[in-house]
Amino acid sequence: MVRLSGKVYLIGAGPGDPELMTLKAARALGVADVILIDELVSRGCLAHARSDAKVIEVGKRGGCKSTPQAFIEKLLVLYASENRIVARLKGGDPFVFGRGAEELAALEAAGIEVEIIPGITAGIGVPAMLGIPVTHRALARGVMFVTGHTKDGTEPDWRNLARPGTTLVIYMGLRSFERTRQALLAKFGPHKPACIIENGTLKTQRHAVGTLGTLSSQGFQGPAIIVVGEVVRFARIARAERKAA
Ligand code: SAH
Repeated sequence: MVRLSGKVYLIGAGPGDPELMTLKAARALGVADVILIDELVSRGCLAHARSDAKVIEVGKRGGCKSTPQAFIEKLLVLYASENRIVARLKGGDPFVFGRGAEELAALEAAGIEVEIIPGITAGIGVPAMLGIPVTHRALARGVMFVTGHTKDGTEPDWRNLARPGTTLVIYMGLRSFERTRQALLAKFGPHKPACIIENGTLKTQRHAVGTLGTLSSQGFQGPAIIVVGEVVRFARIARAERKAA
């Protein structure tokens, strides 16, 4: 039997700002022969890559043309089988709405060594940069991460998902925002604090902080995180914004 020396690092690049990537991720990028990078990952992360590394962009953004998942998995297996060190760089954490589990399964099925390097997920890191803690001893005893965009196009069951005392963090929820807002309004009423944060942790970050009654997704294009819950009161926003909310 031929022994393979190829390996895949399944890496979380963090929520946006390249400095929020882990040291372990930077080190793995530095030894990679091939790097497969998602569209949402800041190109600044590649500063740690070898200058002769082959960089392959595997774009994926809701609704737009994207590289099929099966093809990405094929490429990972192919390069690792050629005994190359492969870095698979994904936004946030590879296992949070990132299909990291599918890639891991495909690689393991092919007998390839995989090392997982977690990253800061957008749903925690993005609100944190605005001063919003997703849990709080007095206000939120738990947090629920939900995607607004499902494979079969069905809406999440907001009535049962949303609970008082639990922060709701919605990924990929911009397009269905108005429907989500209406469903949550029916459950919590108009005064529940809520916010939208777009391009979090990046220079292009924009946000809107308000309540379920006032918040609008107008003008946002994404990627964006939506946070609903009492913890949104901690958002460090300018005084003028606070007045408007
Ligand atoms: N694995 C990633 C999530 C991938 S799904 C993670 O752990 O963060 C992609 C979604 O993540 C986007 O549609 C958006 O909802 C969210 N997202 C990723 N980066 C973001 C950022 N910088 N600001 C706001 N939302 C972000």
